[in-house]
Amino acid sequence: MNPEETQAFEEKIYAFIGRENGPPKKGHDAVNEPMIRHWAEIMGDESPVYTDSEAAINSSKGGIIAPPSMLQTWSMEGYSMAGDFVQDVQRGLHNVFDEHGYTGVLGTNTTTEFFRDLKPGDEVTAHTVIDSISEQKATARGIGYFIETVTTFTDQDGEDVGRQVFRVLKFVPADGDASASSESTDDESPAAPTRIASPRGHDNGWWWNAIDEGKMLIQRCKNCQTLRHPPRPMCGECQSIEWDSIESSMEGEVFSFTTLHYPKIPGYDYPLCCAVISLNEGTRIVSNIVGIDHEDVTIGMKVKGNIEQVDEKTMLPQFYPAQAGE
Ligand SMILES: [Zn+2]
Repeated sequence: MNPEETQAFEEKIYAFIGRENGPPKKGHDAVNEPMIRHWAEIMGDESPVYTDSEAAINSSKGGIIAPPSMLQTWSMEGYSMAGDFVQDVQRGLHNVFDEHGYTGVLGTNTTTEFFRDLKPGDEVTAHTVIDSISEQKATARGIGYFIETVTTFTDQDGEDVGRQVFRVLKFVPADGDASASSESTDDESPAAPTRIASPRGHDNGWWWNAIDEGKMLIQRCKNCQTLRHPPRPMCGECQSIEWDSIESSMEGEVFSFTTLHYPKIPGYDYPLCCAVISLNEGTRIVSNIVGIDHEDVTIGMKVKGNIEQVDEKTMLPQFYPAQAGE
């Protein structure tokens, strides 16, 4: 786009700022115990204030409350969301972007605030506004604009109960692919993307440092000898904070796995098989299974690991089928 076209485009998109996404959306159902119970069950959250009315009454909450993280669910449209695309103001805004080549979309971050606990009988309504659109930005994904929508949740009395900010990037994909793949074989491309760096803190830095030296360690309680992984400061069995480590044989079997196809994060090869591996020592570790077609991976398959350099900066354990003999 030339400067005039860019200006005309920006006038169009900025005209959306401050517009409501659509009429307020009132939840189909009031806050209710069955939905709370299902949520708590799926999330594995056993706090009694969600499901045990007697315990909840005797707690500081004075009765059953909904998990705060359910806030957004109360006003969701439900199954119809998966059907016909709702033509709302935000969709209209995205269409303007799409028509001008900004076909990529990436959710970048969201923040939610909770103003009070919701209790059975509360009725939640969501009000969403296109709150802001950034100036044009050059991002790793391509040139684009950040769009921020703000949803305010109100109760039956019109009082605010929570607020959610959601930010997406609409961008021109570098290779014209809206799936936002940024893999490239172009010789002119900058340094090949590396994998996401391991988070090294006080409690786990030692483990990653050993990986860099080609050793996979397993933390061991000095008091009761229980092995644990991932690394953490205290033994779950005896609460001792004294520990040492043993070196893993890196032999084990596939406990569970999943294969990722999308979204393609730069630095990784796809399909990417991510597995929970039960090591012979007894602990489990999440790693990649390589050296085999992902469709041939099975639960219970014996695997053997190596520590390998997977990109310019990263050493990682990688697991192969044991019969491959590595
Ligand atoms: Zn212990």
